[in-house]
Amino acid sequence: MSEKAFDKELGKWSAWHDTGVPLRLGVSSCLLGEEVRFDGGHARNSFMMDVLGNWFEWVPVCPEVGIGMGVPRPTIRLFQNDKDVRLIAPSTREDFTVRMGTYAAKKVKELQKTDLDGYILKKGSPSCGMERIKVYDERGVRRRDAAGLYAAVLIERWPTLPVEEEGRLNDVDIRENFIERVFCRNRWRTLIRRGLTRRRLVAFHTAHKLLLRSHNEAGYRRSGRLVGLAGQIPDGELFTLYEAELYRVMRTRATKRRHVNVLEHALGYMKKLLPSREKREILAAIGDYGAGLIPLIVPLTLLRFNIHRYEIDYLAGQIYFNPHPKELMLRNHV
Ligand code: SF4
Repeated sequence: MSEKAFDKELGKWSAWHDTGVPLRLGVSSCLLGEEVRFDGGHARNSFMMDVLGNWFEWVPVCPEVGIGMGVPRPTIRLFQNDKDVRLIAPSTREDFTVRMGTYAAKKVKELQKTDLDGYILKKGSPSCGMERIKVYDERGVRRRDAAGLYAAVLIERWPTLPVEEEGRLNDVDIRENFIERVFCRNRWRTLIRRGLTRRRLVAFHTAHKLLLRSHNEAGYRRSGRLVGLAGQIPDGELFTLYEAELYRVMRTRATKRRHVNVLEHALGYMKKLLPSREKREILAAIGDYGAGLIPLIVPLTLLRFNIHRYEIDYLAGQIYFNPHPKELMLRNHV
């Protein structure tokens, strides 16, 4: 990777990833088609297997098999008692709370050593579900706002890891945001593996400016101020602060409104170069995208064409225009 602070090559996602080091996602095993569910079945997810599977290496985990419950096994549920929430098999009254908590803490520690880029969980499971899991009491369903026991430990102990639920990935905005965070995390980790220096931090931040703005304008400014501290505080402290801010910014979802702001900002770089009719057409495409009439890929393609036509190196070096493989087609939906 170039050490130049400003380099149009750095606008390509592939410049930041090492081909020999795959992007790696933790996953609930049943989503890969493994027959580990309580009834001996699976929950194969075709988008994950057939699309994401071409780009990611999976690290499968089935926490219920992991604590020795076997397949098939009795169903388990979250139960609220006077003091806390327990993980219990209603048919046998066996309580798995402690076993699952201990297993989860140990497993997360182990996974942290493998340095995942993200994690996809199975929805609706009292072990793996990320949200809206039913909690029962003696009268029936008491509420639906819990996380599965394993998922809760994963999220609490590894707050910087991008985590999503397979069901939520059907939402195109959630899907793109998750994959964008995963690729961004991998780029940062690759940078560290290659050897992080102040110059490389500046190059990374420069290439990510528009991407960060599309997620969180205030966070983008904060991260810029941190980069401005290079040389004034110890490098180790600087890199740690920047990493925390980077992950915080990327956690905020990029919305249509934020994309429109970034697209208009990019258009500003070519407003003196473009014939006014073409400028109006791009503006109209940005407006149509903002109104939900056309996908993001349309104004992006128009801008990209003109970035190369007029050789605007600053924009050519923005990862925003090319943050993940186009084959994933994440920006092709309305
Ligand atoms: S949801 Fe989790 S615990 Fe249940 S079968 Fe799938 S991987 Fe195993």
